[in-house]
Amino acid sequence: MRYESTRNNMIQMTAAEAILQGIAPDRGLYVPVEFPKLDVDFWTGLSYEETAYQVLSPFLTEFSEASLRKMIHKAYGHGFEVEEITPLCGIGSMKHLELFHGRTAAFKDMALSILPHLMKGSEDVLMAKEKIMILTATSGDTGKAALEGFAYAEGTSIVVFYPKDGVSEVQKRQMTSQKGYNTFVYGVDGNFDDVQTRVKEIFVDDDVRKTLKDRGIRLSSANSINIGRLLPQIVYYYQAYRMMVDQGEIQYGDEVNFAVPTGNFGNILAGFYAKQMGLPIGRLICASNENKILYDFFKTGVYDGNREFFRTSSPSMDILISSNLERLLYEACGRDPKIVADMMEAFQEKRIFEASEDMKATFADFYGGYCTEEETAQTIERVYRESNELIDPHTAVARKVAEDYQRKVNDFRPMVVVSTASPYKFSRAVYSAIFGESEDHDFELLKRLSDKTNCSVPYSLKDIASRVEIHNKSCAIDEMLAYIFASC
Ligand SMILES: *Cc1c(COP(=O)(O)O)cnc(C)c1O
Repeated sequence: MRYESTRNNMIQMTAAEAILQGIAPDRGLYVPVEFPKLDVDFWTGLSYEETAYQVLSPFLTEFSEASLRKMIHKAYGHGFEVEEITPLCGIGSMKHLELFHGRTAAFKDMALSILPHLMKGSEDVLMAKEKIMILTATSGDTGKAALEGFAYAEGTSIVVFYPKDGVSEVQKRQMTSQKGYNTFVYGVDGNFDDVQTRVKEIFVDDDVRKTLKDRGIRLSSANSINIGRLLPQIVYYYQAYRMMVDQGEIQYGDEVNFAVPTGNFGNILAGFYAKQMGLPIGRLICASNENKILYDFFKTGVYDGNREFFRTSSPSMDILISSNLERLLYEACGRDPKIVADMMEAFQEKRIFEASEDMKATFADFYGGYCTEEETAQTIERVYRESNELIDPHTAVARKVAEDYQRKVNDFRPMVVVSTASPYKFSRAVYSAIFGESEDHDFELLKRLSDKTNCSVPYSLKDIASRVEIHNKSCAIDEMLAYIFASC
């Protein structure tokens, strides 16, 4: 299997090369040259690890079966709190696919548990000897999940930049208390888009690459621009479908809709990839918060970044530049890199682009919806009152949009809401939605939320309040590069 850049399909790489590079030299994103077809009808009762092997092996043909199975086992054999890894739970008339039972209590663990192993494996395949420096911009959850994955990993170091005032207290403490001689964490004055844009610039800066190369270091990315991060996310769509069958909700071949709380468009794109591989997925419901740029895009075909940025209770979706949309555009225009390159150039210059009429046919697989802050809080409260379950604000956004979708479109095919974070990662928003505003610190609310609701706190967050802050530096956007060099 080879991978080509969305902006120039003459640039083709093996999986190992694409994973180590992260982003293509022309700033395009790597995509598989074709989607392998994978049936589901013989899959009853497969473990998560086995499903992962079935899904990943056709994409990662350079790795031997034994080495791929070993990587999968290292990633999912421990570190998850429940045996199913991604349990599928009924809440009212919908199923929630819980992707937050891993090391950092958010869905980023699904891919970042395995990415370090894929990178190490890629280095082995290519017999590369450089040290890998992972450079990551985070809206809150990727940072910690990547730190967990790469801390103490031999031959690697990891540098994480997060928007200083754009993450929850729990997210911040998770990152600033990270142990590991090879971990570096910095708060930045700016929002996630500013940070991500700067990181992307640094990635494609030849001078930076050269300076680091002279020091024996290769830069790579743990963001979902890295194809090695995206592929493992296809697995849980297959697993969810299989569990829907096992639970008697559907029969093989029936279509299932998925509602996905969306920011950088990585999670939902993995669902689209699963559909390309033959998984019977009906509609992919793209749920946004008040930063509803994707809702507007699916409605009008215009992606317009010239708009106000809102800070919301679902910060991992406070994004106006959804990087992975580029991969969808590539499919939608019939894999014409020239069209994608032009659109991206337009965006670079004017922060706006428009999709052609032809492309809109592909977008019919998606439905865009959004949820206001008030509706998010109401949904958290209502779900708790009716079903006695706590859901986090990101999941609440998806739930609300899924309910709206069914009502407005009258499509009652079975719905799976993709549940992306533990409610305890966002204890203030969840607590105040149910019990009213509180002056207390987020960590105190975390404990009180658990006492009042009898819902247990994930193992990875139990001692959050007592964790010592190790990383307390912050910087301006234009200082990020200096901090990277200082972290070598
Ligand atoms: C990252 C994240 C999202 C958004 O996922 P994308 O792949 O960036 O669209 C949603 N919810 C949570 C909790 C996240 O951490």
